[in-house]
Order: sequence, then C-alpha cells, then structure tokens
Amino acid sequence: LSVTDYLRQHIRTVPDWPAPGVQFRDITPLLQDPKVFRVMIDAFVHRYMDRAMRPDVVAGLDARGFILGAVVAYELNVGFVPIRKKGKLPFTTVEETYELEYGSATVELHADAVKPGDRVLLIDDLIATGGTMMAGKKLLEKLGTTVMEGAAIVDLPELGGSARLRASGLPLYTLVDFS
Ligand code: 5GP
Repeated sequence: LSVTDYLRQHIRTVPDWPAPGVQFRDITPLLQDPKVFRVMIDAFVHRYMDRAMRPDVVAGLDARGFILGAVVAYELNVGFVPIRKKGKLPFTTVEETYELEYGSATVELHADAVKPGDRVLLIDDLIATGGTMMAGKKLLEKLGTTVMEGAAIVDLPELGGSARLRASGLPLYTLVDFS
C-alpha cells in the first residue's frame, strides 16, 4: 500500500457539510491514529529535511495548517509562524483580503514573523480553490520572503486551485488527490 493510498483510506468524506452539495474531506482521523499521524508528518519531514529543500521557517494557515505546520517545523528544527483569520493576532500585522464564493475573507501575519530573504514553507491541510494559500503567499511576499513551496495533505484538482497556484510560480507538494 502506498503512503498516498494509506492516507486516503483514513480521510473521512462527509456529504453535505458545511452546505448541501459539498463533500467535506475530514482529515481529523489522520491525526487521531498515531501510526497514520506519523506516516503523514514523516512524508513532509523527509521532503523538507533535504538540504536543498530545507526552509528557514514554516508558516501555517488557520487552523488545520497550525496542527501540521507546528509539528513539521519542530522536526525540521526551524520556527513556526501562524497566518490567522483577521482579528486574532495582537501585535502589528500585515493583511491580505481575498474573495470567497460568497463575500471575502482577510488573513493576517505579524509584521516581524519573518525576515526579508527568508525561504518559507507554507502549509495547510487542503487546497480547494487555492484562494487561502494564494493569500498566504501574498502576505509572506509583502514581507520580502520567498515562499519556496506550498504543502498540503489533500488537493482537489478539479477546483483548479493547485493549477492556479502553480501557474503563479508556487511549487506544490500534496499527498492525496480527490477527483
Ligand atoms: P480554498 O481557499 O483553497 O478554496 O480552500 C481551502 C481552505 O478551506 C483550507 O484552509 C481548508 O482547511 C478549507 N477547506 C475547504 N474545503 C475543505 C475540505 O473539504 N476539507 C478540509 N479539511 N478543509 C477544507
């Protein structure tokens, strides 16, 4: 069984959540089982431990990106910085607003979280339209960093987000696709 198939088997699909017609890919079973959790984290750690791929800092997207990003950063022995939904970070921030299907959302990052020239690994649990990861990339670039790669457990390629992110110049590493 490949890592991809092993992880896919442990992702739960919840129909009609949070809205009718949506098939939500629930990654909590991957965290709950210690063997699966380790296989998943190790897949990221092995890729980014490599000298050429090692980031200076890991940035995680609110909220499931915090769970993955913090563990990966710890294992790589680099720092972790959270990109949060607006209104949660106490110090001076930079912000980026992006469009959702209905309305818009704003994400923030502490202005001193990263340094110009840092190579940043950006992590979330899932890429759908790519809007969240694109906003994270823009925030990090506002502070003069290079986002060396975007990483996620799941890609939903049919929504076109991963293709758009790659077209914008962001390399991506994902573990499981759902079509
Ligand atoms: P996007 O911005 O790419 O359209 O949506 C991705 C963001 O929404 C991620 O932060 C992700 O956590 C969340 N998201 C959207 N759909 C799903 C889903 O089916 N499963 C999970 N786990 N997260 C989702």
